[in-house]
Amino acid sequence: MPPNDLSLPLAPSRCPLCGGFNQCAVAQGQDPKACWCMSVTVPASLTEQLPPEAVGKSCICGACVEAWNTRGVLRRYAD
Ligand SMILES: [Zn+2]
Repeated sequence: MPPNDLSLPLAPSRCPLCGGFNQCAVAQGQDPKACWCMSVTVPASLTEQLPPEAVGKSCICGACVEAWNTRGVLRRYAD
């Protein structure tokens, strides 16, 4: 494992914001078109919250998108 400074586990199957499983179809080896994220809009204001290391690597999970869209809040790891 390469060392990194992030406190979050960066993995394709985990949300980089809360650390939960993002159920990303791509991370599960399935067709990207099958992913739940194709049916929702992930606001740019939310993706801007991601650490640069996570952009393009880990998908945000549905719960984080919903929390941001409905309450304007960021869910945090270990919440
Ligand atoms: Zn999340």
